[in-house]
Amino acid sequence: MQTAEQTATNPVQQAWNKRPLIISGPCSAETEEQVLATAQRLAATGKVDMLRAGIWKPRTKPGMFEGIGAKGLPWLQQAKKLTGLPTTVEVATGKQVEDALNFEVDVLWIGARTTVNPFSVQEVADALRGVDVPVMIKNPINPDLELWSGAVERIARAGVKQIGLIHRGFSSYGNSEYRNAPMWHLAIEMKLKHPNMPIINDPSHICGRRDILLEVMQRAIDLDYDGLMIESHIDPDNAWSDAKQQVTPERLAEMLNTIIWRREDVNSEEYHAALEALRQKINHLDDELMQILSQRMKIAEQIGKYKKENNITILQTNRWNEIIERASAKGEKIGLSKEFITKYLDAVHMESINHQKKVLDS
Ligand code: PEP
Ligand code: MN
Repeated sequence: MQTAEQTATNPVQQAWNKRPLIISGPCSAETEEQVLATAQRLAATGKVDMLRAGIWKPRTKPGMFEGIGAKGLPWLQQAKKLTGLPTTVEVATGKQVEDALNFEVDVLWIGARTTVNPFSVQEVADALRGVDVPVMIKNPINPDLELWSGAVERIARAGVKQIGLIHRGFSSYGNSEYRNAPMWHLAIEMKLKHPNMPIINDPSHICGRRDILLEVMQRAIDLDYDGLMIESHIDPDNAWSDAKQQVTPERLAEMLNTIIWRREDVNSEEYHAALEALRQKINHLDDELMQILSQRMKIAEQIGKYKKENNITILQTNRWNEIIERASAKGEKIGLSKEFITKYLDAVHMESINHQKKVLDS
C-alpha cells in the first residue's frame, strides 16, 4: 500500500490523475532510435503526460507489420528513464501482460479488437489479478455498450481499481469521412453509465487521417473528455503502421495549442458539456429520422409500382384520411400536437407523392 504522500509524488499517479491527460507516441514501436527520439521530442513539448507505443499489433491482414514484440519493451523502459514519461502499451494476452509488467510498463490498455472477445478479456483479467496497475479499455470495434461494459466488469472483478475508458470509434461498412465512426452518443452513454471512470478520446483511430484530427480533438474537449490519446511519429509518412493518421510531436503540440480548452468555471463547463451531449443525441435522432423517412419513400415507390401496373391514381383520399387520423391519435398520446402531426404528414405525403409520380412517369 502506498501512503497518500507517496501517491501524490508518484509520477504514474500524477499523470493518471492529470486533466486533461495527454497520451501520445507512435502507433507502433519500430526501432530503438524511433522510440527514443519520439519520446524526447514529445517530452520537449511539455504537453504530454504519458508515452504510448504498440508492441504487439493486431492487424487486419497477415503480412502487415504485426509489432516488434517484447524486444521493444526495453526501448520503452529506456524512453521512460530519459524523459520521465510513464509508459503505456496495448495487451491482448496473459503473456503480454506479464512481459509488459516485467519491463515496468506503467499503464496497460486493451485494444478494440480484444474488447470484443470475452475469452481474451478474461485472460487479460486473470493475468492482472493482484496487480496494481491502471488499465484503459478501448471500446469494442462494434457499437455494443454491453460488450464494452462487460470488459470493464471483467477487469474490475480481477481487482483492478484504476480503470479508464478509451473511445476510438466504431467500424462500419463502406466509406465514410472517418476510419471509425465516432458515434459520440454511445461514448456519452458509456460515460453516464460509468461516471467515475475517466474517459479518453482517441482521435487518431477515429479519423484515420491527419486533416480532421483537430476538429475531433476539439469535439472531445467540448464534450468534457478527461484526456486524449493521439498517435505521433518522428516521420509519420514512413510509419510502419497507421501512417496516414500520425503527426510529428511538434505538430501535436501545435494542435494542443490551438484547441480551445473550455473555461475553468466549473458551472459553465458542465453546462457546455451537458448541452453538447444533448445536441449530439439530437443529431443522432435526426439522422435516424432521415433514415426512416428514406425507407418510407422506398416503400411508397413500391406502392407506386403496383398502382402503375393496375392503373390506379396516386392520391387516394380514404387512405390519406386514415393515415392522418391514426397518426394524430398516436401522436397526442406521446406529446405531439395534432397541428404538428398534420403539418409533418402533409410534408411527408407531398414527398411521397413525388416519389410515386416518378415511378408512374417512368
Ligand atoms: C492502437 O492504438 O494502435 C490500436 C491498434 O488501436 P485500436 O485497438 O483502437 O484499433
Ligand atoms: Mn494505430
